[in-house]
Amino acid sequence: MEFTKKIDEVRKFVRQWKKEGLSVGFVPTMGYLHDGHKSLIEKAVKDNDKVVVSIFVNPMQFGENEDFNDYPRDIEHDKKICFDAKADLIFNPDASEMYGDNFYTFVDMNIITKGLCGKSRPIHFRGVCTVVSKLFNIVNPDKAYFGQKDAQQLAVIKKMTEDLNMNIDIIGCPIIREDDGLAKSSRNVYLNNEDRKAATVLNKSLNIGKISINGGEKSVEKVKKIIENEILKEKNTKIDYVEIVKWPNLEPIDVIEKPILAAIAVYIGKTRLIDNFILE
Ligand code: AMP
Repeated sequence: MEFTKKIDEVRKFVRQWKKEGLSVGFVPTMGYLHDGHKSLIEKAVKDNDKVVVSIFVNPMQFGENEDFNDYPRDIEHDKKICFDAKADLIFNPDASEMYGDNFYTFVDMNIITKGLCGKSRPIHFRGVCTVVSKLFNIVNPDKAYFGQKDAQQLAVIKKMTEDLNMNIDIIGCPIIREDDGLAKSSRNVYLNNEDRKAATVLNKSLNIGKISINGGEKSVEKVKKIIENEILKEKNTKIDYVEIVKWPNLEPIDVIEKPILAAIAVYIGKTRLIDNFILE
């Protein structure tokens, strides 16, 4: 497995692979890798001849009062996960390599970035679209892998590649969970013991919502209320949002007709966690 912090070196590797007729898969991450990331890398390894993993905590997608400085980092641990998953190249640039001194260009998206996470994180998806565009231009992959854990991000990236005619297949991958149902996340490390137990309420409340839909409930308002009530049974929780929207265009709806995305963001103490389910 190769490791580089330099854009030029990534290009060199990929150019050589393409010359040899090899296909290239790409998994963008912010590091502090866990089994969720590993599942994406393993899928990419299965589908492609060569796999690039980027590890970059992108300052542009964090708001002023968000956790950019505290975001967990452990590059040695990340290298081990990538090696075990049989990645071929890690790209771990510094912010100066990605943005230089004068950076004036952004990739932004309207409509589907405005709701859900976009409401409380207004600059987030501009940062995501910009960095992912840059990474796509650097790596030039055939396929790129994104987790359904960040369902809005998956929808946004798919739409961006369509709108901008990027010739890259975007592959969505299922959510990997802890044994008690909590979606794996680098941010779970912020949770103390008590918060960690409380955090299971995200998946639990979504499951109760799903049961009511599968039982025939069609009212978005009613299912949202059921999920909210379940979350609020747990002390120390604050709801950022509970939403049910059309999948994958994220349009608001009143009546549940598949395909739908049910997505939530909840503060457990100071830690903001997200989870969701999709009914196709
Ligand atoms: P992040 O490092 O949090 O930016 O995540 C990098 C990629 O891994 C994104 O496409 C995430 O959706 C995906 N990912 C994060 N957690 C999980 C998980 N629990 N299951 C599946 N994919 C995940």
